Amino acid sequence: MKVKLSFIFLMIQKLQMKNRTWNNYFIELTNHVSTRSTCDRKHVGCVIVRENNILATGYNGSLTKDDHCDEAGHLIIDNHCIRTVHAERNAVFQAAKNGVSLKDSTAYVNVEPCWECFKSLISSGVINIYYESDYPNSNNVYIKEYLTKNKNITFTKIGD
Ligand SMILES: [Zn+2]
Ligand SMILES: [Zn+2]
Repeated sequence: MKVKLSFIFLMIQKLQMKNRTWNNYFIELTNHVSTRSTCDRKHVGCVIVRENNILATGYNGSLTKDDHCDEAGHLIIDNHCIRTVHAERNAVFQAAKNGVSLKDSTAYVNVEPCWECFKSLISSGVINIYYESDYPNSNNVYIKEYLTKNKNITFTKIGD
């Protein structure tokens, strides 16, 4: 009986794996990437892909060779920590550093991108953005405005 139950459990697990979409897979990866964040105000991870191939990843952390929030404390201006480079822009910069084109790519982020990161992603050639959880930001009205004028760009919440 024990063996049979574990076999059924294994089959269910296999079915669940099969049903897990690429979107779920990449969103799960953003959560994993975010664990490297060095600013505990928000752990954000970004994965940029094209045709399900990973092109770049990024998490929010300090400028290269600068102090990190979790060692030196936050640098707060207007209630935002400005010490860090946001995850999305770190992914874009990683692609730039490695000479990888992001043209017609798709970005996954575990948290809704801010307007500044949205602009960076779109200007780099990202055409689809998927995020997992909302992040209230008054400037994000500009994202909505932009999307109404540019129907080729998608901005979609998945998960929850
Ligand atoms: Zn910080
Ligand atoms: Zn941002």
